[in-house]
Amino acid sequence: MRITYPDLYFDEVPDLKKVIDSGWLTKGPYVEEFERMIKNYVGAKYAIAVSSGTAALHLALISLNISSGDEVIVPDFTFVATANAVEYTGAKPVFADIDLKTLNIDVEDIKKKITDKTKVIMPVHGFGQSANMGEIRKIAKEHNLFIVEDAACALGAKYKGEFCGTMGDLGCFSFHPRKILTTAEGGIVVTNNDEHAKLIERLRDHGSIKKDGRVYFNHCGYNYRLSELHAVLGIAQMKKLDDIIKKRQEAARKLSTLLSGIESLQLPEIDKDYQHIFQSYIVLLGEGIDRYEFMTNLKGKDIETVVGNHSLHSQPFYKNKYGYKDSDIPNSFAAAERSVALPLYPQMTEEEINLLAETVRNTL
Ligand SMILES: *Cc1c(COP(=O)(O)O)cnc(C)c1O
Repeated sequence: MRITYPDLYFDEVPDLKKVIDSGWLTKGPYVEEFERMIKNYVGAKYAIAVSSGTAALHLALISLNISSGDEVIVPDFTFVATANAVEYTGAKPVFADIDLKTLNIDVEDIKKKITDKTKVIMPVHGFGQSANMGEIRKIAKEHNLFIVEDAACALGAKYKGEFCGTMGDLGCFSFHPRKILTTAEGGIVVTNNDEHAKLIERLRDHGSIKKDGRVYFNHCGYNYRLSELHAVLGIAQMKKLDDIIKKRQEAARKLSTLLSGIESLQLPEIDKDYQHIFQSYIVLLGEGIDRYEFMTNLKGKDIETVVGNHSLHSQPFYKNKYGYKDSDIPNSFAAAERSVALPLYPQMTEEEINLLAETVRNTL
């Protein structure tokens, strides 16, 4: 049993052949169609497809003019790309701790980390569950800060009925195979802001602007385009997105029922205001349990697990650059030591769910 399997099959993408036969392989009509589908789905004015979730975050920050001397508040417990995107701009990622129940950014710690240099709060909707956007929006408004949502894992997730990615100034999604929807590699930025959208569209394509039949380069842009081959996969995936989400939620619900009552295991919390879509199913092991041994034992029974996430302030690059100690951001550090992602995928059968739950229970 692998940690996940993309819910994507060759038969679902007949247009793949059309793309290849057409000879038009990069940004074209399929990219535009994919962008239209995403922006209609989440209800945003613009969606700009790019080559990865990381590229989406990078361009979102540049569109807000973030650069050296600025600070961006990010959760410490996240994939490294969240903070790396801030580093690319020259700004400083400032790590906030997380709430150990939700594993998302702790809003009280955001308040403590705000300085005169803070420009952006970049919450992550971890594992497909929204951060506390009600409080985050309040804080951003009070301190006049932008919000860039790292919704890499959260396409289709909601907070009190609003789609993740549409609650801040810009929202960024990833289409890596471990996410909800995949294009192999890919990402997208959504926004309602005309200026940000226009700038991101140019920057993804070398900074080029067409005017009076000529092309000009007013910015030093990037090649962050998405190809037609990737977009055509995304279109096929969008047609089944709601089905993928429903199946993930069902599998997670069954798994939680079967795993409940194990003392040394904290299961994902489900709150009706936070419509968790379970990009990952993360458990926290009790303090006395050797995670490495637990994961190795499961591996021996052909069940793949991975660590839940990393604690960025304790990673060598960030530790050395900013002088952190491991104990500086305690909840995140504990979560990074104790969390495990269990297998979860939309195609998961009843037997697989039962087998997984039973093996986890017996191993513990
Ligand atoms: C996957 C992920 C990213 C990066 O997305 P890529 O498409 O792999 O570049 C960024 N942030 C978070 C929280 C992620 O999970």
